[in-house]
Amino acid sequence: MVVLGVAAHPDDLDFSASGTFAKWVKEGASCYYLICTDGCKGSDDPKMTEQKLIALRKAEQRTAAKILGIKEVFFLNHKDTQLVADLTLKKEIVRLIRKVKPDIVVTLDPTFVYSVERGFINHTDHRAAGLAALDAVFPLARDRLTFKELEKEALSPYKVSTLYLTNFDHPTEIIDISDTLELKLQALEAHTTQISKQALERVKKWNRILGKKRGYKYAEGFVKLTLPA
Ligand SMILES: [Zn+2]
Repeated sequence: MVVLGVAAHPDDLDFSASGTFAKWVKEGASCYYLICTDGCKGSDDPKMTEQKLIALRKAEQRTAAKILGIKEVFFLNHKDTQLVADLTLKKEIVRLIRKVKPDIVVTLDPTFVYSVERGFINHTDHRAAGLAALDAVFPLARDRLTFKELEKEALSPYKVSTLYLTNFDHPTEIIDISDTLELKLQALEAHTTQISKQALERVKKWNRILGKKRGYKYAEGFVKLTLPA
């Protein structure tokens, strides 16, 4: 099984889906991450510069991926907070889908705009990455006449069969991550510019709440979409 995760920032997939990725890796899957932005805005430190942060966050994401057993992390280097689900981004995602041929694409649910209960707005880049990934899966990666020039790079049309959209509030699929929670926390700790003790506790709490729905100790939630062959 091949799995491709598509997200906006270094750390997005680790917060929302890394317990599941680690589980799939343990089961023998080949997993890849595609990170659309450079993460250059994610710091309140007055001494931090964008260039320094970009390098740090890429290294953090690579370390986290190594902990989880992710085969490779690809970066598209769009500017943080400026991601747009345009044809350029969609083509970049199509290119990677046609290259790694994933059975499953995991991405951020683009229909999630805000949460009243949890009191926050979902980052604009998260929505853009999720929307572009959805459009890349269907119809763009599938159609022979779309991005015909990619055929010259031996990137022929490809049908993804399953999508997992990370979703906390209304998941259709709850994955037991009790055995990989420890790896998830280690992966999150690798994001040293982003993570705090409180954030780790919050993640544990959310994964505990999701687990409760199915009698698991810890779980991650997704909306699963099965596409016709
Ligand atoms: Zn993010």
